[in-house]
Amino acid sequence: MTIKTIFLDRDGVINKEVGYLYRVTDFIFIQGVFDACLYFQNLNYKIIIISNQSGIARGFFNENDYLKLTEWMLGQFNNNGIKILDTFYCPHSPKSHCECRKPKPGMLIEAKNKYNISMKDSWMIGDKETDLEAANLAGITNTILVRSGHLIDESNSNSMFTIDSIRQSKEVIKT
Ligand SMILES: [Mg+2]
Ligand SMILES: [Zn+2]
Repeated sequence: MTIKTIFLDRDGVINKEVGYLYRVTDFIFIQGVFDACLYFQNLNYKIIIISNQSGIARGFFNENDYLKLTEWMLGQFNNNGIKILDTFYCPHSPKSHCECRKPKPGMLIEAKNKYNISMKDSWMIGDKETDLEAANLAGITNTILVRSGHLIDESNSNSMFTIDSIRQSKEVIKT
């Protein structure tokens, strides 16, 4: 049995991109994120969050700060009837050349192996081209770039779809 999954980048997709976010008070959910996730659940998708958190390696916050914020965030999802299957994060800096930092596909492949995910039936939603690159390298062809985070160059994007925010994802994810 395989499962299908919506992989979400965090910053710029779930919450407003503020740069090296680690405090609950700075975490603002993007409008429509809960509705979109309920919609995904109704289509029998699992939801997994895949996030680069180099702020840890850079010393802006520590692993415990990240985990505390994650616990709070998952509680908010839970209060809205949404179960996040898992969260993966890369704590390393670009200089470390690890296998997990997007655009490397390490976190996605780890998730795939852990949950037996059918990548061809799954989606990646990101606000950076590197999110989609990681997805493609992991065998995910269904990609959505959102305009709700980092500034994007739509004319040079390899995304399958580009939309304003996760709120519009139901217009492209139908089954
Ligand atoms: Mg992002
Ligand atoms: Zn890493």
